[in-house]
Amino acid sequence: MYKCDLDRLSEKIKTFSKFGDTGNGGITRLSLSDEALAAREEFCERLKKLGANIVTDDMANIYATIPGSENLPAILSGSHLDSVRQGGNYDGVLGVLSAMEAVETIVTDKIPHRHPITVAVWTNEEGARFEPAMMSSGVLCGKFKKEDMLNSEAKDIPGYYFKDALQKSGYKGSEENRMNPEKTAGLVELHAEQGPVLDAENKEVGIVEGVCGMVNYEFTMRGQADHAGTFPMKYRKDALYACAKVIDYLHENLDKLDEELVYTTGKISAHPNIHTIIPDEVKLTLDSRHKDPKVMEQVVEVIKNLPESLEKCTVEKKEAWARDTVYFNKKLVGFVEDSVKELGYTYKKMYSGAGHDAQYMCDAIPTTMIFVPSVEGHSHCELEYSTPENCLKGANVLLNTLLKMDEEL
Ligand SMILES: [Zn+2]
Repeated sequence: MYKCDLDRLSEKIKTFSKFGDTGNGGITRLSLSDEALAAREEFCERLKKLGANIVTDDMANIYATIPGSENLPAILSGSHLDSVRQGGNYDGVLGVLSAMEAVETIVTDKIPHRHPITVAVWTNEEGARFEPAMMSSGVLCGKFKKEDMLNSEAKDIPGYYFKDALQKSGYKGSEENRMNPEKTAGLVELHAEQGPVLDAENKEVGIVEGVCGMVNYEFTMRGQADHAGTFPMKYRKDALYACAKVIDYLHENLDKLDEELVYTTGKISAHPNIHTIIPDEVKLTLDSRHKDPKVMEQVVEVIKNLPESLEKCTVEKKEAWARDTVYFNKKLVGFVEDSVKELGYTYKKMYSGAGHDAQYMCDAIPTTMIFVPSVEGHSHCELEYSTPENCLKGANVLLNTLLKMDEEL
């Protein structure tokens, strides 16, 4: 089995943590910001030194390719370098750095390989500055219209659009350079788990079989606004109280379904939101995820059975959007599993609850993912951390998976 180098990988993590350093153990590296551009420059410099040929496409995705011994489609690995505000040093960047480390190992140890190997950096995965998330992989795979994306306005600078940032970045290349499914054999994305399961179960690697399907609903409860002092309780139509009953109903009924089901009532707004007025309209969102479409059908059934009236208020439900479960390429999942077993690491097979670029790429090319445990599951915050040892194990799995793909695809 081939192995990456712990010191070399740790140095990469340390160096890249300077780009957008918040001073509290985390980073703010919004897409195409000065900090993100500095990280891109470091990436390109290092890959050039390894002999990679670097091109960018019209969405500023970077492809750094080392040649193979034969004229074959490229094997791809990578992730994103942008972060959320006050995010951590592992989400996304670890996938890029592990792919860099795998390629560095292949080059320095002169490991023979037939296919060209490309380290990719996808632009604007987080959507923290320009919505939506997974923007560029979405454009590449036909999920989003490029024109709409170009006109996405920056949340931090009014009147500044994604197209302006793209132009200013110096990384806007031509459409011809986009990942071409005919010239690409497959993609493996390594990522921090961003949840507590691997850490809690003391597993070293997550073998990711797919991405959970999800539904998003919006509930609207309508009652009557009245005076907080003059209205006896029995005459009230309090929409916020009805909302509390809705939340209660959801917990009561969704908890009876599968234990892996997750759901969140994360956003609420009450009108008029004044302490002397009984709320007359309350909106609530529900986000629910599970890998099994049958369980998701049960979730929808629970929502359908929600009473249309609670506490003398009307209850309306509307599906905002939904996404089907994504299943990764079985052959590639198998290569990851073989690598993990040959390396002797403990592992868990799992589905990703979070969205990743790989789930869009999966539509276009054979794709899979590898998870590295997140200590206590913290992510999208400065506490985000994965131990150097587990990062190395992830990189080793990635390296050997890429080599298996090289041999067998
Ligand atoms: Zn990410």
